[in-house]
Amino acid sequence: MSDTLNIDGAFLSEEHRLLRDQVQRLVREEIQPSADQWEEDGRVPDSVFRRLGELGLLGLAFPEADGGSGMDAVASLILNEELGRSGYGGPTAGLTVHTDMSALHLARVGTAEQKARFLPRILTGETICALGVTEPAGGSDLTRIATTARREDDTYILNGSKTFITNANIADVFFVIARTSAEARGGSGFSLFVVQRDTPGFSNGERFKKTGWHGSDTGELRFDEARVPAANLLGEEGRGFYYMMKGLDHERLCAAGQVLGLAQAAIDHTLEWTRGRQAFGGVLWDLQVIRHEMAKLATELLAARAFTYLVAMKAARGEPIQMEGAMLKAHVPELGNRIAYKCVQYHGGGGYIHGTPVERISRDLRLLSIGGGASEVMYDEVAKRL
Ligand SMILES: Cc1cc2nc3c(=O)[nH]c(=O)nc-3n(C[C@H](O)[C@H](O)[C@H](O)COP(=O)(O)OP(=O)(O)OC[C@H]3O[C@@H](n4cnc5c(N)ncnc54)[C@H](O)[C@@H]3O)c2cc1C
Repeated sequence: MSDTLNIDGAFLSEEHRLLRDQVQRLVREEIQPSADQWEEDGRVPDSVFRRLGELGLLGLAFPEADGGSGMDAVASLILNEELGRSGYGGPTAGLTVHTDMSALHLARVGTAEQKARFLPRILTGETICALGVTEPAGGSDLTRIATTARREDDTYILNGSKTFITNANIADVFFVIARTSAEARGGSGFSLFVVQRDTPGFSNGERFKKTGWHGSDTGELRFDEARVPAANLLGEEGRGFYYMMKGLDHERLCAAGQVLGLAQAAIDHTLEWTRGRQAFGGVLWDLQVIRHEMAKLATELLAARAFTYLVAMKAARGEPIQMEGAMLKAHVPELGNRIAYKCVQYHGGGGYIHGTPVERISRDLRLLSIGGGASEVMYDEVAKRL
């Protein structure tokens, strides 16, 4: 990124800047050199989770009292953006489901006993986490969740399935939402559980081949009379939907951060390419139509980036960001997809060939306007609050 596009001075503390440097170094030295292999393997190796744990990067959003770094939403945004700037959306997804989308529920509503049991190994990366919300009957409309949990003495018996789950086949613990009341309607009657891989009655189903995010594992979770100790219920029974909603603002901010990074990587690659590619007696960059389009996209991305950091700062002050979080999740991925489209276009045939960074980035960006809240649903969330 050109220095003139650097807005960090307006938003970041010294601690944030050091964090950005640290993650950039990790990406350059330890992620990019191996990420093509992870794309082939369809997953991030366990050792990478542990490496992020060693560096303290798995606990940025966790309070110090829980063993985390007690940093703010801006720090989480930096982590997500810089992982995205690696140009590999799959590894970014696998790692950030762990850091920002699942285990934080323990910090938010876990008891001291639950935190002591799970968090130390989650923060070192010895335990890998996943989030189980989406079901075959629907992901956007969470009230359609059909997985049930019925209480029997000191156990909940889970029946049902979850689909399209990141880290499904590699995670050790799953943060799962299920119906605990036959009358569950609207947001009431759902509960949140920590389900351990060795739970009797738990299994994985299909492992999915995907358009993009090749470096992340995606699969199904199946619960067939799965016996989950009542001690693994998070918070109060019947409040699970509410807890999920509380986590969504942070997830949306982090998803927007990933898009910012991936889209910036696409722009960087395309600037380099168009400035070198010979055509019509000059280089592509000499053609005004291309130069102007890149200038417009860079402008829009910088505006989106500034907005995203403003929202993160608001979250860091403890202010609600429901509307802004939905705005980010609706707008930034749609912009990212427009940027990817043009960056592929200006790479010509090479932009469609496997192995070209913009080809991968365009596939990886495609999901971000669907997963974790489709744009249409997000615009509804915004409209409700206007
Ligand atoms: C690679 C990958 C990884 C994923 N990881 C996870 C994970 O870790 N955990 C997890 O729980 N889920 C995960 N998901 C699931 C993802 O969050 C859902 O796919 C997403 O929420 C959409 O749900 P759906 O697929 O059921 O689509 P549907 O809910 O059936 O919606 C289909 C489409 O209909 C449109 N639509 C829906 N509702 C409305 C509306 N109200 N107004 C207008 N249009 C609407 C949207 O365009 C939407 O994309 C993942 C998905 C993929 C592909």
